[in-house]
Amino acid sequence: MTQDRNYGFGTRAIHAGAVPDPVTGARATPIHQTTSFVFDSAEHAASLFNLQTFGNVYSRISNPTVAVLEERVAALEGGRAALACSTGMAAQMTALLAILKTGDHIVAASTLYGGTVGQLGVGFARLGIETTFVDPADTENFRRAIRPNTRALYGETIGNPLVNVLDIEAVAKVAHDHGLPLVIDNTVASPYVCNPFAFGADIVVHSATKYLGGHGTTMAGVIVESGKFNWANGNFPELTEPSAAYHGVKFYETFGDFGYTMKARMEVNRSFGATLAPMSAWLILQGIETLHLRMQAHSRNALAVARHLQQHPQVAWVNYPGLPESPYFALAQKQFRSLDGGPMGSGILTFGIKATDPAKAGERFIDACEFLSHLANIGDAKTLVIHPASTTHRQLSEAELAKAGVSADMVRLSVGIEDVEDILWDIDQALNKAVA
Ligand SMILES: *Cc1c(COP(=O)(O)O)cnc(C)c1O
Repeated sequence: MTQDRNYGFGTRAIHAGAVPDPVTGARATPIHQTTSFVFDSAEHAASLFNLQTFGNVYSRISNPTVAVLEERVAALEGGRAALACSTGMAAQMTALLAILKTGDHIVAASTLYGGTVGQLGVGFARLGIETTFVDPADTENFRRAIRPNTRALYGETIGNPLVNVLDIEAVAKVAHDHGLPLVIDNTVASPYVCNPFAFGADIVVHSATKYLGGHGTTMAGVIVESGKFNWANGNFPELTEPSAAYHGVKFYETFGDFGYTMKARMEVNRSFGATLAPMSAWLILQGIETLHLRMQAHSRNALAVARHLQQHPQVAWVNYPGLPESPYFALAQKQFRSLDGGPMGSGILTFGIKATDPAKAGERFIDACEFLSHLANIGDAKTLVIHPASTTHRQLSEAELAKAGVSADMVRLSVGIEDVEDILWDIDQALNKAVA
């Protein structure tokens, strides 16, 4: 494809990073199910190992099928380079280990995905990397928590499960005032709804398990680099000094605007091995070819469900950033792609059931659903439902639930792309049984 044209999102979702196979003519991206790649000569091998020639050596480091996924997600995010990992958790870990070491500090939103709170608050803490969690509703909370050893700010475009929207531009400004990169988990929005780089984010991470794959079949993660952050500002000597892990390479000097990605690949993924399998990359690529269509359908259905729930007599409250009544609507208008005259909101929403025992009603609602699936995932073509207070947040006391922003009556829906009339029918009949 010519580089002269600024291709639209749908065209990039289908073509970016891929060409017909030059050997066989295969139009679909081949699955290069191989661990290793034959060198042309001893000299070629040496130059690959010296990072003087680009090419494949071993699939823990790079693989041609995985490379198509990496290029495609970089193109969809408007980034410079990407690295795929085995899961979303692995992508976050790899993204952060590329710039953090024992003694460093992170400032992160307190409303992050629970798995990420555990990874940073417990896992990284054990490695001697401390995280301060702050309420992201006030951007100044990030600034106030920054210390001399802080090396990254971390947030989610749309929080899960609170569905709160981050002011990426404001947090990026705080980060850049202190010479720090802003890492954004863009999983819930997807690159179709929001491109965090457009608002100043420096690194984007995805659980590709969710909307990118889109069908609940495959675990994967992706890290994308904007290519704009100045890693030579004195805070990141690991990127500017000779690398002990990769025979003296200076990643930023040698690779410039994709030096961070090269370090994540050649040091972290090579040493820690959270690599994506080619088959999984191929499955995620199949999903991405329809990302733009699915995200429109997810957002339209979620808005219709949110509007329906708003006027439902058995519903106490609804939280969806695409609703004009949402406290996050203005941020959604600013940061999210528009559709049908309003901002897209992706497919996740929460609501509360009106009942004397709302926790019990939440459990009964879930049990009464016919085809809405009760499970702990999001971003599937199928509509998914969960009651956090009786599942993911079950062990928390009422006070702890309140602090986490999870009320006893909260139901989370990941609205799928089935016919919306059927989704509304299932919700209505389950609500009737829940409060009967
Ligand atoms: C699911 C999820 C993750 C973790 O991704 P996995 O692919 O399950 O490892 C991280 N962040 C968010 C927002 C998620 O929803």
